[in-house]
Amino acid sequence: MNPAGKTMEICFWGTRGSYPVPGRSTLVYGGNTACHSVRIGDKSIIFDAGTGIINLGTALVREKKPVNAMLIISHTHFDHISGLLYFKPCFVKSTQLHIYGPTEVVGDISKVIHNLSKPQSHPIEFDQMGMHFSCNSLTGGDLFSWSASAKAPKKVSASRAGKKDAIMISAMYNRRHPVHGVMNYRVDYMGKSFVYASDIEGDPLQGDSDLARFAAGADVLAHDAQYTEADYAAGRQGWGHSTPAMAVKTAKMAGVKRLALIHFEPSYDDKKLRQMERETKKLFPSSFFAVEGKSIRL
Ligand SMILES: [Zn+2]
Ligand SMILES: [Zn+2]
Repeated sequence: MNPAGKTMEICFWGTRGSYPVPGRSTLVYGGNTACHSVRIGDKSIIFDAGTGIINLGTALVREKKPVNAMLIISHTHFDHISGLLYFKPCFVKSTQLHIYGPTEVVGDISKVIHNLSKPQSHPIEFDQMGMHFSCNSLTGGDLFSWSASAKAPKKVSASRAGKKDAIMISAMYNRRHPVHGVMNYRVDYMGKSFVYASDIEGDPLQGDSDLARFAAGADVLAHDAQYTEADYAAGRQGWGHSTPAMAVKTAKMAGVKRLALIHFEPSYDDKKLRQMERETKKLFPSSFFAVEGKSIRL
């Protein structure tokens, strides 16, 4: 297949923040926690492993093709890792899972991952599940290249950015989340781009200028939008999450084409989110609230 013909498919698997909320009141936007994916050809880049990753795993296994995925973790708050033990491709021998986690935020990601599956927590440890996997640390400013012929992504310097048709993945450390901050990520491929910026608190007046530079010109910016203006003002400052208006400020500054709002407050039902979405579209017409299981093709 000619790589130039490959599309970038972005899918939202877990749009909820904090904890899962299955049930009738969350059927539209979804109740699973943080997980989103970018698919390019036979490669997947997965952002976070909240409970949304469970449905992604089921979809991948159903395809009956070897899974080759880079799983990049923004931070290890429980809503971003709690689905990993139930990711079905972990139990398939042909799976290659390259896990990356930010040093600034979690220290050694390998320790966090291995602790998750210790016998006190789970009957089978990751090492015994059958897949091939590796745990790798990354840091703010890192750049990775994943070419069509390469089995795994490779860290590169900005001046040697790799082949023209390679998938490029970059990381930006963001302090705007308690306690140790969070990593934001950007994927570029053949002129298409996606930015993942969850669990950040923009400045109510100015947005986030560092993130705006990082996300400049992106096709899609997925940005935290946990609270309404009223709830934010009623004591949620400093909790590390944004309102849709903060996300819009940054999206406008960055000149992104589309803004996907994610990481919804678990107590908000579909009706409330629909209302918030309507209000947000008035500020930024090409914005939308991400819906669990829906995808966009670029
Ligand atoms: Zn979160
Ligand atoms: Zn968090």
